[in-house]
Amino acid sequence: MTFRAKILTIFPEIFPGFLGTSLTGRALKENIWSLDAVNIRDYAFDKHGSVDDTPCGGGAGMIMRPDVLGAAIEHQHNGEKIIYMSPKGKPLTQAKVRELSKLNELMIICGRFEGIDERVLEEYDIEEISIGDYILTGGEQAAMIMLDAIVRLLPGVLGNAASIENESFETQLLEYPQYTRPIEWKGRKVPEILLSGHHENVAKWQKEQALQITKQRRPDLLEKNT
Ligand code: SAH
Repeated sequence: MTFRAKILTIFPEIFPGFLGTSLTGRALKENIWSLDAVNIRDYAFDKHGSVDDTPCGGGAGMIMRPDVLGAAIEHQHNGEKIIYMSPKGKPLTQAKVRELSKLNELMIICGRFEGIDERVLEEYDIEEISIGDYILTGGEQAAMIMLDAIVRLLPGVLGNAASIENESFETQLLEYPQYTRPIEWKGRKVPEILLSGHHENVAKWQKEQALQITKQRRPDLLEKNT
C-alpha cells in the first residue's frame, strides 16, 4: 500500500527536495510512498495569488488568510489526518513518527510568514507538530524532516529491518558507539570486545554503553521510561 502525502505550500517547487534522493527517493520511485505538493496560491481570490494579510491587533509580519487556506484544504481534503507544522505543536518524537507511519495518507500544511490564522486549526481539527524548539522560515523544511523520518519506517524502505530496532530512541536509549574497519586508526583501536565474536558479551557491552551515554547526555529519556 502506498503512503500518500499531500503537502499544502506556497513553494511546491521545492518538493521532493532531498526526499528525492537516497532511500526516500528510491521509495518514491517504487511507489512505497507518493507526494503531491499543492500550491495554496492556486486558491487565492485575486490574480496576484495573495495568501496573507496583516495581523489583527497589530504586530510584525503577515498571517496566512483562513479563507484562502480553507479553500485549498476543502478542495484537497479527502478525510485524511491534517497536520500543521508549527513551533507551537507537540514535539515530533520517534513514537509519533511510528504512529504516523501506520497511516495510509496525510495532509501537511506548511506555514510561511508569521504562521496561519488560528481559526483554520479549529475548523478542520488540525494537529500541530513541531520539529524542535527553534523557529524556521517555513513549514516546508519541517515537513520534509517529518516525512523523511516517516518514510524510512515504511515497509520495504530500509534493507535491514533489524537496524531500526537498536537505533537511538527506538529503545528509549541513545545508540551505543559504532565502529568499522580499519581496526586501528591514528593509534585508536576498536574496543577489543567487539572483535571477540562473543555475541552475548557484545550485546551486554552495547547495552551498558547505551545506558551510560543516555545517562550522561539525555537523562530525561530514562525518566520517561519509568
Ligand atoms: N510566528 C511564529 C513562527 C512562524 S515561522 C511563532 O512565533 O510561533 C513560519 C512557519 O515555519 C510556521 O508557520 C511553521 O509552519 C514553520 N515552522 C517554524 N518553526 C517550526 C518548527 N520548529 N517546527 C515546525 N514548523 C515550524
